[in-house]
Amino acid sequence: MGKGRFPRSKNDNRSKRQAPMHFEMLEQYNLQDMAFICAQCSFCQVGHGACPTYKVKRRDSYSGKGKMIIARALLQGRLSPSEALEGLRDAVFGCTLCGGCEEVCQVDIPFVQIYQLLRGEFLKLNLWPEQLKMMKKTLIKTRNVQGQPNIDRVEGWSYWHPDEDALLEKVGQPAETGFFVGCGSSFRGIAIQATIATTLILDDAGIEYTLLGEDEWCCGAPLIMTGDFEGAKEFALHNIEEFRKLGVKRIVTNCPGCYKMWHHEYHQLLGIDHEFEIVYGPVLYAKLVEEGKLEGKIKDLPVSVTFHDPCDAGRNSGIYEEPRVVLKNIPGLRFEELPHNRENSYCCGSGGVLRAQDEEFCLKINELKVRDIEQTDADWVISACPSCVDFINTGLPEAGSEKKSKDLAVLLAEALGHTWDGLDDVYG
Ligand code: SF4
Ligand code: SF4
Repeated sequence: MGKGRFPRSKNDNRSKRQAPMHFEMLEQYNLQDMAFICAQCSFCQVGHGACPTYKVKRRDSYSGKGKMIIARALLQGRLSPSEALEGLRDAVFGCTLCGGCEEVCQVDIPFVQIYQLLRGEFLKLNLWPEQLKMMKKTLIKTRNVQGQPNIDRVEGWSYWHPDEDALLEKVGQPAETGFFVGCGSSFRGIAIQATIATTLILDDAGIEYTLLGEDEWCCGAPLIMTGDFEGAKEFALHNIEEFRKLGVKRIVTNCPGCYKMWHHEYHQLLGIDHEFEIVYGPVLYAKLVEEGKLEGKIKDLPVSVTFHDPCDAGRNSGIYEEPRVVLKNIPGLRFEELPHNRENSYCCGSGGVLRAQDEEFCLKINELKVRDIEQTDADWVISACPSCVDFINTGLPEAGSEKKSKDLAVLLAEALGHTWDGLDDVYG
């Protein structure tokens, strides 16, 4: 026995190493070493708002650390694919891509990108979850993730708009500003309210804009987030071309998921560079408020609100202050932060395409968010994401709460004095 070494047991399997796995997509981005730099400090399991999926599942593999340990064992050949791939796949897809682990990681592992690349590895290995295959079929057939006729991108909700004719005239018209609506915001009741509100705010600020209507396709987020970068490219290139035809220079979107795709992911994961300025709705609203473009138009709104930072706007894009600037400029409004806010915000549970795979799991994550909300005296939870607003409104009544959620754009439009058909019906 060598000095200072433990005796080898009968079960010692150092001589039984497997052929090391290669994660080609991690190699392509030079990220394969990330699995080896994890210091196993567990911050990503216990720190502030860190991993909601680990909090619910209470299994190491669902945290950043757990996934890195399995990936490392596969890369070293200490675990065989038959022993470890399925568990890694479940954990990699069982993640909301909320960025909580990345935020607290003391060695700065870029987890959100790594998870998307690993999801791409599983696609190549033909180990993609079945629900995602269905989702892709829907996307290809209808060009939106809701599976709705794409002709209803605008025409499906325009009858609620206070000036339907003026709105429909904008579709396909050349303009410097393009409003990219997004799938959820085109087809889901509660999110449509934010879409109408966005158009009204643009009108009040005197901004001419165009809409793609039926020619708007999904931004590709559901494919990019699940590692199907080639599939997503067709969607991205189509939308880019359509906006170019209309002479668009600036694209506004009220959805932080669409914003993240257009602003960073097209470049980082699809290798597409485009010339557009991409503006997230709350950033535009804050600018309008600060530049006095809405001066004299914002009226008293005596409501008490808190704010939920959507993961794709906050941790994943670094936008925290602008929504708060808007809230603080609405007279009469009482604002209270959530106990976990900004970088430490709890995920609502609806991100990362997890909801399409396991709604029950997402609802359990949502319960943690609702508990955080319940600690405030606010009547309204304002957010700036169609998915978060929808899912928080699902979880609040299930927990017996009387609070409700609404989009920042809707709140601002109301402060600007707007009402429109269907507003209360949809929220009711
Ligand atoms: S991205 Fe969020 S859900 Fe996924 S492992 Fe990290 S903290 Fe957990
Ligand atoms: S926070 Fe980072 S370094 Fe610490 S255990 Fe998690 S992944 Fe590893």
